[in-house]
This record gives sequence, C-alpha cells and structure tokens, in this order.
Amino acid sequence: MIRTRIAPSPTGFLHLGTARTALYSWAYARHYGGQFVLRIEDTDVARSTQNSVDQILASMSWLGLDYDAGPIYQMQRLDRYNAVVDRLIAEGKAYHCYSTPEELEATREAKRAKGEKTLYDGRWRPAPGKTLPPVPHGVLPVVRFCNPPDGDVTWNDLVKGPITISNREIDDLIIARTDGVPTYNFAVVVDDWDMQISHVFRGDEHINNTPWQINMFNALGAPLPQFGHCPVILGDDGQKLSKRRGAVSVTAYEEGGYLPEAMLNYLARLGWSHGDEELFNREQLVNWFDGSHLNKSPAQWDPVKLLWVNAHYIKQADNQRLAQLVSSQLSRQPAPVTVAADSRLEAICALFKDRCDTTIALADWAAKFYQDVMPNATEMTQHVTDVVRPALQVLAGKLESCTWDKPSIAAAIKDALLATGLKMPQLAMPVRVLVLGTPQTPSLDAVLALFDRQTVIARLGRV
Ligand code: GLU
Repeated sequence: MIRTRIAPSPTGFLHLGTARTALYSWAYARHYGGQFVLRIEDTDVARSTQNSVDQILASMSWLGLDYDAGPIYQMQRLDRYNAVVDRLIAEGKAYHCYSTPEELEATREAKRAKGEKTLYDGRWRPAPGKTLPPVPHGVLPVVRFCNPPDGDVTWNDLVKGPITISNREIDDLIIARTDGVPTYNFAVVVDDWDMQISHVFRGDEHINNTPWQINMFNALGAPLPQFGHCPVILGDDGQKLSKRRGAVSVTAYEEGGYLPEAMLNYLARLGWSHGDEELFNREQLVNWFDGSHLNKSPAQWDPVKLLWVNAHYIKQADNQRLAQLVSSQLSRQPAPVTVAADSRLEAICALFKDRCDTTIALADWAAKFYQDVMPNATEMTQHVTDVVRPALQVLAGKLESCTWDKPSIAAAIKDALLATGLKMPQLAMPVRVLVLGTPQTPSLDAVLALFDRQTVIARLGRV
C-alpha cells in the first residue's frame, strides 16, 4: 500500500514549496490508489500558531488536496514518542546527556579553534568500560540517539538518485529535549513508521536529516520509506524564494485572483514534466504522476507563465463560478463594492473573461458596471472631439427610445453613424471612453447591453 504524507510546521503560512511537495505526495498516492496523510508538526511550541494551522488547512482545501487521514497533531502524540524514547534507552540505543548548552558551546568553540568539525564529543555516550561523568545536580538531561560512529548511509533518492553521507559527518542527535518534547528528526521517524508511510517527498533542505532518520528507522527495526527530495523553488531573481523575496502564501494567490486549478497545474509543472504538456487538469496529473520525471535542479518561479496558465483557466471557467469570485473580489477591495453574483454579473464575466488573467482583472471590468468611471483627460481629448460630439448626441437620442437589447443597440449605433457620416471606430472609441473609461473593450453593442439604459445615457451626456 502506497502511503504518502505532507508534514507542514504551523509556524507560518503554507509556502509554495511545501504546497508543491504536498501536491506531488497527493498525486503520487492518488496515482497508485494509495493514501495521503496530513500531519501537523507542531512541536516547535513557541512558534506554532492556530492561525498557521488554519491557513494550512484552508490552502490544502483550496488546492483540492484531500487527505485520507489527519490532520494528525504531533503534540497529541507525546506519550507515544516518550514510549519509543524509553525503549531506545532500554535497548542501549539512546542515552541521557547532561551537558549544558554552555558546556556544549565551549567544546564547539575549542574544536572550531583547532579547525575540527563541531560535532558532539560523545561525553555522555555509554560504552563498554567507559566511566561516565557524575550526574550534575539540577541539570535536566536531553536524550541523544546513539548514531553509528562510522560507515555510510546510502539511499536511492526518488528525485536526486543515489545519495551517500558518512556517519562521520553527523553526531548523536538530540531526540528529546529537557521538557520531554521530541525533536523534529525523531518525531518524524516515529510518525512515518506508525503511519506506515511508504514514500516521503519533501524539500531538499532535509537531505542532511535523512541519514539520521534512516539510522533511527534501522535502530527501531522499522521498515524504511523511500525518500524523494525536491529542489527549492527560486524566485524570478534566481534567489531562493523566501518571505522577504517574493514568496507569498498559497492563500495570497487565492486573494490575488488565481484559480486553484491554475495553481495546481502551474505548481505541478514547476519541477515535473510529462512530455511537452503545459496545461493539464487534476485527473491528467493523477494519471501521469508516477514519481518519474521530477527535476533534479531548482525550478524558477515565473509569474508571467503563472498568469498565462491562470488566463487559460479563467477563459474555461463557468460564468456562475466567476461571478461569485468576482463578487468576493469586489467586496474585498479597499473601497468595497457590494455586488450580487446574479445573471447580469455572469454575463459581464462571460463577455470579459477572455481578456483577463486574474479574477481581480475581471473584477476591475465588472466594477465599471456598478461604480462610476473616471475617463482620463488624455483619452477624453483624443477621442471625444468636436467632430464626434454631434454623433454622441444622436446616439444618446436613439438609445433613449430603442428596445434595450444587443441587436437594437447595434441598430441604434448604425443609425447614428449613417446620420452623421462617421466611421464605426470614430464613434465607438469615444463611447467606450465615456461609458467604460477606456477605449479598449469587447464589441460595443454587447458591452452597452449589459448596462442599464440610464447609466449609458448619463455617461454619454458628460461631453
Ligand atoms: N515539518 C517539516 C517541514 O515543514 C517536515 C519535513 C518532512 O516532510 O519530513 O519542513
């Protein structure tokens, strides 16, 4: 049985990198008919917040990454971790260490001065014939794992291929802190074991943790999952995406007017490929995603491509759904506009969606129907000239009395052109500028028909 998991720490929003790993883990499980688990790694008590948990859950649900188990909270599993710690101590595979942080720092400093690696010196590690220091008074111990002192740890990484790290590079890891809370590397092993995780996909910043984890799996006699470490995502400046450098939360993209299917498509393609396919839906992703063709090198975040993907999905999106999204975008603006997501807004979305790459852009168009527009002075001077003013009046007159639908509005425009001898663009441009505040719009009769008559006449009258 394939079981994958995503294990975010609720110390901030769901990062794009973690979202992508979640997506790969989810797609892998779905592809093989397995299960996907959500685990919240909240052992960093000082930095974990409920708000982050909520954001993570909201982002998962927005992306449609449904899970078969979870959310499982590590802080609710402390008894289990402590039981495993006790077992390791009893088996001589872990030990109490009473070195104080000051002592440890002093030893590290001395090693640094000699140009040596600053690994733990093994002072409290029991060994046959070794006398341990006397237990100091009033010092609470941490628990350290007896890492094998030599040999190599090798695994065949699902993304990066074979990786070998020498045990001489790593030391006896702290697995439980003085307050009994386990550290990440230990809790993750107990959890992946208990939750029968078969495949671990995560960011490659964890590669150096993997040897410790493999050693602990082995010490516990637990089956090893397979590991796949995905490279980081770089910003468009080539630097690692970070909070300071353009990395925003998944929820920020939702608010920014992106559709979840666009995000899913873009994120999946960023670091994985299926031939030349750039646009694919959730079902296709699940069909194709078998764990191969994951990129070994970092991908670069490309906001322009993301917009292109988003525009594709906006074009395809159902108008009723777009109307709802546009309505909530409008209510979220600094000067909120309350708009019913009714058939009129649906028709507006239908007419303008082809030219929009976010629902914010679509909301900007929609706003012109519900709020007054301010044509800019240059465009007014350029288009609303003395030559066209009489024609604008004729048109306004005809629009006063015609039936208010697209064919009749088209006929009224034609009549005004015939009566004044102007060409279509000469009249259409100023009408657009006056009514919508811009000379570039879809076909004029279709646009005007979506307004009510009074608004059009009032705006035309502002010559
Ligand atoms: N809590 C870790 C993180 O957010 C999980 C790493 C893992 O998947 O093992 O990076």
